Amino acid sequence: MSQTRMNELYRKIAYYDATYYGTGRSEISDYHYDLLYRELVELEQQYPHLVSPNSPTQRIGSDLTEGFLKYTHATPMLSITNTYSKEELEKWIHDIQKYGALSCIAELKMDGVACALHYQDGRFIRAVTRGDGTRGDCITENVRTIRTIPLQIDAPGFLEVRGEILMSYPRFHHLNKELKENGQPPMQNPRNTAAGTIKLLSPQKVARRGLDFHAYALLAEGSELSHSKNLEKLKHLGFHTVIHSEPFAKPAPLLSFCSEWERKKENHPYPIDGMVIKVDEINRYDEIGLTAKSPRWVRAYKFAPDRGITEITAIDAQVGRTGVITPVARLRPISLSGTTVQNATLHNYDEIYRLSVNVGDMVTVEKSGEIIPKVISVAEKRTTTPFELPFHCPSCHSPLVKEPHTVALRCVNTACPAQRFSFLKHFVSRAAMNIDGLGPAILEELLQRKMIETPADLFKLTKEELVPLPRMGERSASKLLKSLEKSKNAGLASLVHALGIPLVGSETARVLAAETGSLEKLMNMSCEELEKIHTVGPEIAASLFSYFSTPENKSLISELKNLGLRTEETSGKNSDTSLEGSTYVITGTLSEFTRAEAKKLLESKGARVTSSVSRSTTALIAGENSGSKYTKAESLGIPIYTETFLENLTKKTPH
Ligand SMILES: [Zn+2]
Repeated sequence: MSQTRMNELYRKIAYYDATYYGTGRSEISDYHYDLLYRELVELEQQYPHLVSPNSPTQRIGSDLTEGFLKYTHATPMLSITNTYSKEELEKWIHDIQKYGALSCIAELKMDGVACALHYQDGRFIRAVTRGDGTRGDCITENVRTIRTIPLQIDAPGFLEVRGEILMSYPRFHHLNKELKENGQPPMQNPRNTAAGTIKLLSPQKVARRGLDFHAYALLAEGSELSHSKNLEKLKHLGFHTVIHSEPFAKPAPLLSFCSEWERKKENHPYPIDGMVIKVDEINRYDEIGLTAKSPRWVRAYKFAPDRGITEITAIDAQVGRTGVITPVARLRPISLSGTTVQNATLHNYDEIYRLSVNVGDMVTVEKSGEIIPKVISVAEKRTTTPFELPFHCPSCHSPLVKEPHTVALRCVNTACPAQRFSFLKHFVSRAAMNIDGLGPAILEELLQRKMIETPADLFKLTKEELVPLPRMGERSASKLLKSLEKSKNAGLASLVHALGIPLVGSETARVLAAETGSLEKLMNMSCEELEKIHTVGPEIAASLFSYFSTPENKSLISELKNLGLRTEETSGKNSDTSLEGSTYVITGTLSEFTRAEAKKLLESKGARVTSSVSRSTTALIAGENSGSKYTKAESLGIPIYTETFLENLTKKTPH
């Protein structure tokens, strides 16, 4: 029964992973996906002996790597000669015909990070970055977490698959939203984010980012005939291949395929920066040969990012939730990448001086993909004076403060209306208290009428006060009050997140809630105690400590509590006895837990932790440098888990 359900869950999760890959959009909500995933984790905890090594839960690696090992590519990963000109591309397709009747394939040039995957007798064994083309970094454990890479394929012998590690636009926007909620600077583009992610030293963090892989080459015995056949084979093996054309001998259909994608690129969920055109007949590659740096049998046609010149009509200051001021350039409207662009980011005030730009100058603006347009350079200098830093907050007019060691300007007035507005917007958002019926317009209205100042005031609103508001009425007022009432039970994790403590996002809030069980306990913890909590580093600990030491914050919390908001985690882990009756042994060095933490975690779920492996051991949890216990467990046929098992135990169980 359990085995049947587990197999069903494997299939379902694999299906959703695969469909997510193809479109970058999920067929199932994150919430329902998580439910399936958690059900599987729970079944696996209940029946550890039934866990398959191919289970989706086993994808999350756990070994902390000290830097990255280097690996020499058997076949160098050469760079490709680029052109931005269709005419040059056409000439190349034409010229290549001097080697005889050849056909070419055009494929999307994905804007990610090139990577080679190695398989031995069907098993994924290694992932190597391009590096300098000859030698790359081994990022095996990180790549193992990418759900769309099959860990087991049906192919004998050694096989290398090359492709691009990518982040989709939806994922990228989601990540930036999270960073913004945490008061951290946003990532610049999906490519840089993917490149940074695969070099993270924690596979768990990599797994959470949701990277993807698009394959574009197969190197294996018997794969030397044609590129198009190899792409077919990769699909059969379970890889997602780059979108490509049929093989054509004439330039015209290839060029029109390129033009079609240059038009459509904006609507694709993954970043594309051009097209790659390859000769299909691999058996002719040696004959066609290489130049000093790149093969002659392939060309890249790169899309020029959409740029235009327009005038800066204003540079406005925007006030964030924590008071950080961001300059935004207002532009004379210009059409780029099929959209009308009126605003462009200037990142921070140092950027304004670096560009030497002021209101009235003509600037070059660039927009590529779904990225926020940015000012690249001054195209025509029309002003003679430098831009003057704002001295006062545009909202409350209090003097701005330049933060030491950062380029940020801040409004430090906690009563600042713009900050209050940003804070309230965050507090009621879906990821926080999830209060329906409090859109920006209503919040603005309530603030302007001085009906609210802090989130606590929201819970004091009465029907009599609400009904007369514009666009409100009897029904909406009742609905809003109901939604406010319901949110009082949102739970500790949501509340901690909603407080908007710098660096504390939804993920950290969830861990804090699970570990402490009550807001009172969390508030009274020292920096040292906070740092001991899994995933809380010194910076987050300091931020929490300073937040809870501030009198205004203390009074807000006690007010919220008096208004009936739940500040305790009722479904605490103490009631969880899912591991009762089982015995675990821990060996080796764990990366995310200390031994004591791991022991405490297991015991909190009712398990026993012993020091030696015997026949009565339920499973061994092995970290890095596991020794004799590992060998003994193997010889006794006792299941061996990675740290992932512990990670999964810390995940919240569904209500
Ligand atoms: Zn202000």
